This record gives sequence, C-alpha cells and structure tokens, in this order.
Amino acid sequence: MSKNELRQEIMELKKAKNAVILVHNYQIPEIQEIADFFGDSLELSKIAAELDAKIIVFCGVHFMAETAKILSPDKMVLLPRKDAGCPMADMVDAESLRRLKAQYPDAEVVTYVNTTAEVKAESDVCCTSANAIKVVQNVESQRIIFVPDKNLANYVARFVDKEIIPWDGYCYVHQKIDPIEVIKAKQMNDGAKVIVHPECTKEVIDLADEVLSTSGMIRFAKNTSAKIIIVGTEEGLLYRLKKQNPDKIFYTAGPAQLCRNMKLTTLEDVYLALKEEKYKIEVPESIRKRAKIALDRMLEYV
Ligand code: 13P
Ligand code: SF4
Repeated sequence: MSKNELRQEIMELKKAKNAVILVHNYQIPEIQEIADFFGDSLELSKIAAELDAKIIVFCGVHFMAETAKILSPDKMVLLPRKDAGCPMADMVDAESLRRLKAQYPDAEVVTYVNTTAEVKAESDVCCTSANAIKVVQNVESQRIIFVPDKNLANYVARFVDKEIIPWDGYCYVHQKIDPIEVIKAKQMNDGAKVIVHPECTKEVIDLADEVLSTSGMIRFAKNTSAKIIIVGTEEGLLYRLKKQNPDKIFYTAGPAQLCRNMKLTTLEDVYLALKEEKYKIEVPESIRKRAKIALDRMLEYV
C-alpha cells in the first residue's frame, strides 16, 4: 500500500472503531501528521484520562501506552510496536525499589512517568518533566526517593529545600548531549537561546536559558522573540518546531540525538494496530489500582 492509501485506511478504521491516535512529540513526521492529539508525557496522560473513545492507539513508547491504560482501564490501548520501550524505564524494577524504600522508611517516592506500572505501584506520586519541581514541592516528606532519572532528580533538587535520593538511571539520548557542543553552538550563533530537556546532564543544563519539557519547548519557541534557538533534546522535536515557526532557525545542540525506540512506529504499524487490534496493553488490576493512585496524585498538582 502507498502512504496515501495507508493514511486513508487509518482514517476509515479510526472512524469505524471509534479510535483516537495519541502521538508523542518525538515521533517521525508522518506519524505526527496523523495525530488526533500530540504532546509531551503530561499532556498525553491528561488526554488519555479524559478521552471519550473506545480505542487509544498510542504512538510513543511502552510506558506512555501503559500510563494511558492505567488511567483508562475500560479502553483498549494499543501500542503499534511491541518493541518500542524506554531504556531508562528499564533501569529500575519494583523489587530494587522496595529494597531502597526499606532503607529510607521515612522517604516518599516520586517516580518519573518513564517507568513500568509495577514501579509506579510502589510509588507515592508520579511526575513528568513538565511538573517534577511542583510535585516534589508538594509532597509532605522532607526526604524524597526520586526514580529513575538522576539528571531530573538533580535538576529538581536545585529548587527544593529537601533531601533528594536519586536513582542511578538516565536517558541514553539526553546523556549524549555534550556541553562542549552546546558552547560551540552558542559561540557560532550570537544571540541564540538555548533550550534543553531536564533529562540532560548538569553541565548541559547549566548552559541553558530554559529547561523545559518537549511541549514546553514548543510553547517557548512560539513566544520568544529570539530568532535562533538551540535545542537540547531528541531531534524529532525539530520537525514541529520548524513547521510552526518558519521565521525562526532551529539547531540541535551538537550532532542530532535519536531515540531509536521513538522512531520505530511507521504508518504501516499504525494501520496494522488498528486493523488487528494489536498490541494490547494489559496491566494486572492489583498493580493498576496502586499505580493509578500515584498518577492521580500527580494530576491533582497540575
Ligand atoms: P516529555 O514528557 O518532556 O515529552 O519527555 C518524554 C521523554 O521521554 C523525554 O525523553
Ligand atoms: Fe526513554 Fe530517552 Fe527515548 Fe525518552 S528519549 S523515550 S527517556 S530513551
């Protein structure tokens, strides 16, 4: 089938099955173009919780589709690529987290949404890159176990007068963004603004004008008077940044960094997902209920 035929089939299947397509900001352009909704992890979680549809097709990675299922258990949630995981989410498991909790019984656990349902079930509250500071400010405890992203944990620690115990996880994509490259890009583009994701290292964050979630970057780019913007995140974001701001110039901070998992989903995968109703996300009810408490607490704060 040609791409046009695939798009046509997807539209018809969506209508016939009462399905919606949610798309993360890092997906490839042809997937962004078929989105009913796109956004960062927080926006997509909120949409998934409120949607009135029978089927959600989630074009992103596994933890995002799983979060949608936790929040909307009565809907069928489909992940078009079974193998689209998030390596950072796999850096913590429930058993190891239980062991750390036992060492710090007075700590509350703040868990980045980039985690499995089992890990969320062990947590007091979830957060995303868009609301992590606010969530940590709101939890009662003075001692916080923050999983799994050490870079986000250390970034949040700058804004709160609390003890943060970071897990030793990281995103391999953001970890590769090199501060030397950021300095070079700044030197070559006088007056440029540097915006970076909080999954970047401390050295990169220190060079940034703004530290933002992916959708925060999209809003910033629209509103800034700066004409050149250096972007420290996965390169997929540049597609929409450029499309929405044709009068501005966007550069990646050094060589473009790709999340291979975010690039897996194709039009054909979405078509097959809708046609064959695969791959269904399931979460055991006992885990789902506990994970939902942590997600609901997060959604109360934003
Ligand atoms: P956002 O929630 O900012 O879109 O980030 C998701 C992610 O996976 C970043 O690597
Ligand atoms: Fe996970 Fe990093 Fe890919 Fe985001 S960019 S999905 S955190 S590996």
